[in-house]
Amino acid sequence: MPERPTNRLRAELLSVGTELLLGEIVDTNAAYLAGRLALLGIDCLHMQTVGDNLGRAKEAFERALARSELVVVTGGLGPTEDDLTREAIAAALGETPAVDPELEKELRSWFAGRGLPMPERNRKQAWLIPSARALRNPNGTAPGWDVRKDGRRIVAMPGVPREMTPMWEDQVEPTLAQGSALRRRTLKLLGVGESAVEEKLDELVRSTSPTVATYAKNDGVHVRIADKAPSAQEADARIAGVEAEIRARLGEYVWGVDSDTLGVVVGRALLARGWRLAVAESLSMGDIARSLADTPDARRWFAGGVVRLGAVAEALEREARGLGGNVFLITPEGNDESELRAITPERTRRLTVKFRSPPDGRRRALLGGLDLLRRALAD
Ligand code: ATP
Repeated sequence: MPERPTNRLRAELLSVGTELLLGEIVDTNAAYLAGRLALLGIDCLHMQTVGDNLGRAKEAFERALARSELVVVTGGLGPTEDDLTREAIAAALGETPAVDPELEKELRSWFAGRGLPMPERNRKQAWLIPSARALRNPNGTAPGWDVRKDGRRIVAMPGVPREMTPMWEDQVEPTLAQGSALRRRTLKLLGVGESAVEEKLDELVRSTSPTVATYAKNDGVHVRIADKAPSAQEADARIAGVEAEIRARLGEYVWGVDSDTLGVVVGRALLARGWRLAVAESLSMGDIARSLADTPDARRWFAGGVVRLGAVAEALEREARGLGGNVFLITPEGNDESELRAITPERTRRLTVKFRSPPDGRRRALLGGLDLLRRALAD
């Protein structure tokens, strides 16, 4: 097989833990690591999940090593019987683990620093195999392993995300040769359906550099623009060109980008005008207030909210005005239709939403209401 250039590493992720297979936890580690590898321009071609079982974990490593130069594993580094990742790596590579005196000293002093005796079973967290180097874990007891053998590399890290992510970012990423950079930008749209978006994007969705893809999400339609280039600047420049083209076609529906939430966007607009918002909700049953309250600096612009079921527009507007503030959003009750209102000191904007069921009405009132407010504030 021809050698792959070093910047074309094939990577693979392996998540170890029976909790994952039972659906008790979601594999956020794999999602995080896949995203980080993509940003580094490293191709991640497979993901595997195995339970806490030595035979199957060993098999998973063998399969991974047969097809990937870099295998990144999380979980199973704890001190207990069912933490088997070290054993599985050693078995897959035919090596024997032994306690490393330096690591054991560090581990003992970690416990001593907390005034605790070290349980003997924790000793295996001081194991190394000849091909492994330890990755420090300032946030827990289990060091990681960085194993290099026969042109292959295994990086093993603890399952706990707050231990794993700093280990990865501080100790592993700097050692990975950067290939090309994958960059992306997401535009978030409301007030238009996914198929209408696709139609307007037309030839753009068939482009391969950058790629453009649409997704129907809880907060509207997302359009993701992604590109790979030798440098981040080059990828960003091409993405910016396509973004401008998309905004020319669909700009009126774009309410935010990347990690923006509707609450953040509305809050930003209110702060810019020095206005404060009060909401009175019937159809949305408090969902709007709850979603705004999740916004970090809501206290600076959110005057408050009331939920009044079965209320008509006039009653809700009175209630909202009673809360103070000078911008009001109301979601009156309705059977299959309701007219939402966003009222600023300068104008009132209205939006009629039609719905099939009470939950559907709630959802439409939440998204439609926040989007209406955003538009009223942009007027
Ligand atoms: P430690 O040595 O710190 O106990 P560990 O390597 O033994 O870590 P596990 O015992 O496999 O890790 O998992 C510990 C916890 O970490 C899990 O209960 C879970 O909360 C979290 N965790 C493990 N794997 C994942 C994953 N893939 N995604 C998200 N969280 C995870």
